[in-house]
Amino acid sequence: MSGWLAIAGLGPGDDALLTGEAREALALATDILGYNPYVARIQPRPGLTLHPSDNREELARARHALRLAAAGGRVVIVSSGDPGVFAMASAVFEVLGEHEDWLCLDIRVLPGITAMLAAAARAGAPLGHDFCAINLSDNLKPWALIERRLRLAAQADFAMAFYNPRSASRPEGLGRTLAVLREECEKERLLVFARAVSTPQERLTTVTLAEATPEMADMRTVILVGNKATTRVGRFVYTPRRAE
Ligand code: SAH
Repeated sequence: MSGWLAIAGLGPGDDALLTGEAREALALATDILGYNPYVARIQPRPGLTLHPSDNREELARARHALRLAAAGGRVVIVSSGDPGVFAMASAVFEVLGEHEDWLCLDIRVLPGITAMLAAAARAGAPLGHDFCAINLSDNLKPWALIERRLRLAAQADFAMAFYNPRSASRPEGLGRTLAVLREECEKERLLVFARAVSTPQERLTTVTLAEATPEMADMRTVILVGNKATTRVGRFVYTPRRAE
């Protein structure tokens, strides 16, 4: 059985931020699967079949990829950013145990530059001390859990990164998130709204918690929240390496 499966991160957008090993896997692939806009980033070529699919079809996509690899395909599932951050790697492992022969497959997870790190680098170093990442989408978890994690992270003075800040199905989520932050943090707390980082549509906006509004974000935005020591210097935002 010569097939393999790579679960690869494409990075935040710019080709220069794709890793060498991901580039190599894409070049060797016979089949590439993923959410439509991510597969659209792949150049078609003879011998390569592209399998774009809708989001919310992650488990079906994972099974499809495993079947193709088990049949001898050189298969890549693509995610944006890093495949282990709110993306396809977990979905593959969730179904991997369903067939004995899938467990013997050559499977590799190829890391990528995740949105929060690309955004942080653009802003300066807002994640320069302890931080956490929270997915604000309540597709796969109850809102009460999101709110609890958010509140405890704010109380523990973590810097934070919010992925999926506005889901179409629950547009009020970000307003509720900002309300929790306003209960737990001072109004001067710095937030960076980083949209479409490393693409031609990139836009970074730094505001205080008092100034932040839900309209500053969409689904292409990652929001970075500083801790209480996060500061501006010139055009940069950074979190010091020490905390009290
Ligand atoms: N696996 C991806 C995250 C998938 S969840 C990663 O590691 O980056 C999708 C969310 O990621 C988006 O809603 C947005 O919050 C964030 N995101 C992905 N690409 C981005 C980019 N280029 N700029 C800003 N945020 C991005």
